[in-house]
Amino acid sequence: MTGERGTYDHVVVGAGSAGCAVAAGLARAGARVALIEAGPPARDPRLGIPAMAADLWFGRHDWAVPTAPQPGLDGRVDTWPRGRVVGGSSAINAMMWVRGVDADYDGWAAAGATGWDATTMRGLLHGLEDDERGATAHRGVGGPVRVERQRDPRPVTLAFLDACGELGIPVVDDYHAEEGAALTMVTQRRGRRWSAADAFLVPALADVGDRLTVRTGATVSRVVVAHGRAVGVELLTGRFREVVRAEGEVILCAGAVASPALLWRSGVGPADELRALGLGVVVDAPGVGADLQDHVASGMVVGTAGGSLHGADRDPRVLASWLLRRRGPATSNLGEALALLRTSEDEPAPDVELLAIPAPMLDHGRTRFPRHGLTVAAIVLVPESRGRVTLAAADPRRPPRVAPGTFEDPGGVDLRRMVTGLRTVEALLGTRALGGRIEERLVPSAPATDDAALRAHARATGQTLYHPVGTCRMGSDDRAVVDPALRVRGVDGLRVADASVMPRIVRGHTNAAAMAIGVRAAALVGAA
Ligand SMILES: Cc1cc2nc3c(=O)[nH]c(=O)nc-3n(C[C@H](O)[C@H](O)[C@H](O)COP(=O)(O)OP(=O)(O)OC[C@H]3O[C@@H](n4cnc5c(N)ncnc54)[C@H](O)[C@@H]3O)c2cc1C
Repeated sequence: MTGERGTYDHVVVGAGSAGCAVAAGLARAGARVALIEAGPPARDPRLGIPAMAADLWFGRHDWAVPTAPQPGLDGRVDTWPRGRVVGGSSAINAMMWVRGVDADYDGWAAAGATGWDATTMRGLLHGLEDDERGATAHRGVGGPVRVERQRDPRPVTLAFLDACGELGIPVVDDYHAEEGAALTMVTQRRGRRWSAADAFLVPALADVGDRLTVRTGATVSRVVVAHGRAVGVELLTGRFREVVRAEGEVILCAGAVASPALLWRSGVGPADELRALGLGVVVDAPGVGADLQDHVASGMVVGTAGGSLHGADRDPRVLASWLLRRRGPATSNLGEALALLRTSEDEPAPDVELLAIPAPMLDHGRTRFPRHGLTVAAIVLVPESRGRVTLAAADPRRPPRVAPGTFEDPGGVDLRRMVTGLRTVEALLGTRALGGRIEERLVPSAPATDDAALRAHARATGQTLYHPVGTCRMGSDDRAVVDPALRVRGVDGLRVADASVMPRIVRGHTNAAAMAIGVRAAALVGAA
């Protein structure tokens, strides 16, 4: 996947959700663009098969970033899957299309991200979408990102929705239009994963490939800054070092873990900590890597009589059905249904999500339960906790240090919201619709009946929902890393455009917002 090599107007680092949109947008606008990606091209057939997503985690397409021991999670170390392939995390994610709500984006603007309000973001998200259900006030058609209904949700997922109805949670058709429970809409085209590479890069290479060079297997180690201006990037390919020069701008799209780490290695970070690592200081920027936010998920796992994904990966008929008709369990995105809820009437928008996964799923699927089952997770959508991404060493081959800060907010609000969410999960598991299907409680091994047991469960099982943001926060204050035009404060010709710039995590899943940021970044660079 390469176009012509040579000199470039712009160098984009990272071919993920945002980076594919940035590079394609700039090349379409007439610029010569180099898109540099550490991972391989997206050739592995498993990348296209939705239900294989979890098989890709912790393999060659995943950075598998270890966290520091987490005090809020009983001192456990988590491992964060992050995509390391053309398409980035959109190539290994669960394909859920959940935009976030107006209050999120108006909150961004109010927090100093001027111009990133709900009206603007709705327009961008609308423009992204090609929703198979047709256009309404809440969804778009004709855009690059294909959004489809699920083709073959599992029976236990449908039972989850029945259980929601039984509890009085409205079961709705379009969760962007109404609050309640619904089958998840997915980024697929005819039952095949539709990544950011499919949406932006592949068409751009077909149309303007002479201006767009994609280099894979090339890890950027730092941005080269001369006289206060980014002039290119240094990259590592095997044992070799090379500088790729940008006559225009460098745009970092390496994601919420790698972009702040790249800034630190380029001398943009907290000066005292950079010096302690032996790194030069270009700009003393204490905000780089701070403000890490993520959605924490805690699942309750039950064994069911049938109706889940169990055995689908070993059944040749399942693969045949996918290959021939793009139907059957192989089209499952794992996160098949959701419910968006408010834990109190005072909440301005949903603050907790429940997620139904038609499989017993714990620790990113690494704990195996060889049986049919269902996992219902509660997720805190508006975390108060903040974490931090820093460097443990200057060596670019060492992973950044990630301290997520989960459940560490001083007021304990996150854990309270989680407990309320888990109480609803318990209630769902006790309904006629679901309870009748449950053969065995797996995790926890018996119903958790009081708040102390629910808190203990949350700490023992809490894990990332894979949505880190905020580590290169956009804003107008002194600690903001980028301004509302995504320019890194203190360095000319350098921007960040990915999930790391979100001032506050959205009450949705982060892929849509990350892509929208990429689209807008291309317009901002083009207009400069
Ligand atoms: C397992 C998983 C499941 C998820 N499920 C969902 C979901 O169902 N719905 C949803 O909306 N969101 C989901 N997300 C989150 C969503 O996919 C991400 O928020 C989004 O993809 C982030 O986009 P990004 O552009 O910021 O970063 P990424 O898409 O992660 O892209 C960063 C790219 O930069 C590359 N890179 C990093 N460092 C370097 C370097 N030094 N040199 C060169 N290249 C580099 C990476 O290899 C990667 O390709 C999930 C994420 C994961 C990991």
